[in-house]
Amino acid sequence: MIQQIDNFIGGELVAPAGGRYLDNFDPAVGRVYSGVADSDARDVERAVAAAHAAFAKWSATPADERCRVLFRVADIIERDLEKFALAECVDNGKPLTRARTAEIPRAVKNFRFFATALLHERSDLHVVDREALNYTLRRPRGVCGLISPWNLPLYLLTWKVAPALAVGNTAVAKPSEVTPMTARLLADACVEAGLPAGVLNIVHGSGTQAGAALVSHPAVTTISFTGGTKTGRAIAAAAAPMFKKLSLELGGKNPNLVFADADMGAAVDASVQAAFANQGQICLCGSRVYVERPAYDEFVARFVEQTRRLRVGDPLDPATQQGAMVSRVQLEKTREYVELARREGGRVLSGGGPPVELPTRCRDGYFHQPTVIVDLPPECRVNQEEIFGPVVTIAPFENEADAIKLANGTEFGLSASVFTRDVNRAHRVADAIQAGTVWVNCWLLRDLRVPFGGMKQSGVGREGGDEALRFFSETKNVCVKVG
Ligand code: NAD
Repeated sequence: MIQQIDNFIGGELVAPAGGRYLDNFDPAVGRVYSGVADSDARDVERAVAAAHAAFAKWSATPADERCRVLFRVADIIERDLEKFALAECVDNGKPLTRARTAEIPRAVKNFRFFATALLHERSDLHVVDREALNYTLRRPRGVCGLISPWNLPLYLLTWKVAPALAVGNTAVAKPSEVTPMTARLLADACVEAGLPAGVLNIVHGSGTQAGAALVSHPAVTTISFTGGTKTGRAIAAAAAPMFKKLSLELGGKNPNLVFADADMGAAVDASVQAAFANQGQICLCGSRVYVERPAYDEFVARFVEQTRRLRVGDPLDPATQQGAMVSRVQLEKTREYVELARREGGRVLSGGGPPVELPTRCRDGYFHQPTVIVDLPPECRVNQEEIFGPVVTIAPFENEADAIKLANGTEFGLSASVFTRDVNRAHRVADAIQAGTVWVNCWLLRDLRVPFGGMKQSGVGREGGDEALRFFSETKNVCVKVG
């Protein structure tokens, strides 16, 4: 009997109203290993009612007590790090080492950061001559709907849960149906930490059924969504007529610009990381690399050499650097784009198909080699559409203006990296790139205090730091006449 993952509603595990479960696959072996509640509008209704009932008390709980509870949740995840890391690895196919050293510790940090950030919040006071005082109150918004994707399952879920709850909201979370296991473990951590029943509810299931019911529920005031641009468009259309407060963190097609004066070793290291970390399944992955012409040949040779050395294998093996892709769908999509790249005139310099050697256990898993493609024009589909797999294209550029034009030449604007030793150029180019985050001589150095989000089709709104606390708060001005 495989484990069935139930919903977490009102502090208890509850079977879905329809009694149905979706298959949950272990992508490293290509087999079902658990079932996940296939929830519908009835389950969402129940979860929203529980969140609504818990709101008055939780929002009136002193901030330092809310902070203490969220800290306890962080401590429990940290104590159970191995259990969470294994769950994320088996659900998602990512190397266990990555889950253990990056994703789960970052989820712990989310809770600690937002719990303490709350204690340092300031409020504004504006004085109008001797006539009036205006002060600004920030209050929790009520029941928040939190919808997250499968690529960094616990990290992106807690990135929403922690600030929403810290501010005093209650929430209904809908994790990705593809990777539900860490959310299931989070429910246990919340109970053990003493989070009052109903403050966080977790409804599992498909986006079109459970997710859509959450977005359209009239009692859900606020929607924070991370996922694909197409889904974001559907959610925006459903939420807009109800005037819900909405944050959308969407897809990316992020450029890495390498100037000829850059430290080539560091640029290659960071660009390989940016292209293939988590099998290329991070929204911030640098999937288009542009290199200044004089450095192009050397960069490509070193990049390909380093890519070939990446070890693809069983995610449970500590030596593995590239695990399985999350699902058969994602694997097929990646293969189709590699085929498309060949038809569009691209030359595959490395990878391009399944790995040659895999342990027997992983024979039916969803593996794809890290793949490097050159000779593709910037406007082709492979250079314009988000693949979300281990595929990178490399092309030369002639000068700074050319580099900026290439970087900005897609409908996305999530992040970018610039590699140069010229500090003036670094600032100039960072300013000119249309992206929510620009890294200079690095990739994915994250600071939870800075605003995070995308430009153009990569999103609406900003999360992170104060922005998150403000997003999850209602702002009210009070004007008091003096004298
Ligand atoms: P997805 O859009 O398919 O699903 C994301 C979540 O939305 C899932 O929980 C899904 O069940 C739910 N959903 C799907 N349809 C829905 C609907 N109609 N109504 C409500 N909910 C719905 O995305 P995915 O495949 O899980 O994740 C990959 C995508 O996420 C990529 O495009 C990636 O770039 C993006 N992403 C963005 C960021 C960011 O911060 N900008 C971070 C990580 C991932």
